[in-house]
Amino acid sequence: MKKFECKSLGMACDFKVEAENPEEVISKAEEHAATAHNLPRGEETRAKIRSQVKDAD
Ligand SMILES: [Zn+2]
Repeated sequence: MKKFECKSLGMACDFKVEAENPEEVISKAEEHAATAHNLPRGEETRAKIRSQVKDAD
């Protein structure tokens, strides 16, 4: 399992997502970033998220 926590990007935000496939984690996190934080959809945001995808416990 892979996970992403929004606070890894320095956001004061409790959003987290877990999935088997890291691309699924990134996709869901990108959607969250766009809707909750007004970040642009696209490779730049995806790269930031990707750098913070970690192994889930
Ligand atoms: Zn967030």
